[in-house]
Amino acid sequence: MSTLSLLVEASSCSWGKLACQHGDRTIGIILRAIVSFCNAHLGQSASNQLLVFAFGRNVEKKLIYSSARSEDRNVSSVVVDHLRDLLQSDSGNSDATMGAPIGPALAHAFCHMKKDSQLATADICDDSLGPAASNTDKSDSSTEKVSTRAVVISMTPIIGSEHGSLMNLFFSAAKQSICVDVVSMSDDLTGGILQQAADITGGSFVHAEKPQALLKILMTNMLTDASYRKTFSKLSHCSVDYRASCACHHTLVSSGWVCSICLSVLCQYTPICKVCKAAFTITNLPKKPSRKRTLRS
Ligand SMILES: [Zn+2]
Ligand SMILES: [Zn+2]
Repeated sequence: MSTLSLLVEASSCSWGKLACQHGDRTIGIILRAIVSFCNAHLGQSASNQLLVFAFGRNVEKKLIYSSARSEDRNVSSVVVDHLRDLLQSDSGNSDATMGAPIGPALAHAFCHMKKDSQLATADICDDSLGPAASNTDKSDSSTEKVSTRAVVISMTPIIGSEHGSLMNLFFSAAKQSICVDVVSMSDDLTGGILQQAADITGGSFVHAEKPQALLKILMTNMLTDASYRKTFSKLSHCSVDYRASCACHHTLVSSGWVCSICLSVLCQYTPICKVCKAAFTITNLPKKPSRKRTLRS
């Protein structure tokens, strides 16, 4: 049994930018890839569960489809209708800021998966066939764990004020054995800090250069559970950008000041933390070299 959460960015600016770059058919290609992937996951086993979330600045109801709760079994029409409605309503918004906050949707997804897996372990009826069925020496069928993972389809790099909360989410996901896979369709090859999410939780991070590659990436790299992927050669995260983004300017910094109260990263020393407003007094700050002396010499 496997529970998959699919998180799709529902920002009209991001979808519009992709359509400008790759042509008018882009939106249809992405929607078809998402629907095909959802159906492929549900088709693998009758006990597989699917949750589809949308994240964006103006998305209030983030869970748009749940196979356990929805009465409509036709995932294609539900997901496409919801995404289309969200994009249409967002396109009428005057706010043209790129990017979408992913933290709330990711936390929502993790909570749902944790709750569902606890319910499922109480009464498991797994009809899936595959390598796990033969490897029963490690775990008894009665104590088999429910596989939980999240797949994120992002269209803009995630950098900004969410850094601290997202890192907490990634580490809690790793502790709960939730694997996070990421497909980034943005120009940024690292997807902001989403590459770190995949690296911390043991998932895959793939950059899709064009919308036509999305379905191929989802089907070949993200359809199977993390436990099955040992059979295949693993995608290497050759250079994961582990820089933190500062809370003041939302840019990536190699070194900075960390608030001891809220652990926010600040690129320069400030006596009052800009996030939690804690006041600091540092008596032995390194002195700057005097400019007068260097100018005279
Ligand atoms: Zn800064
Ligand atoms: Zn602070």
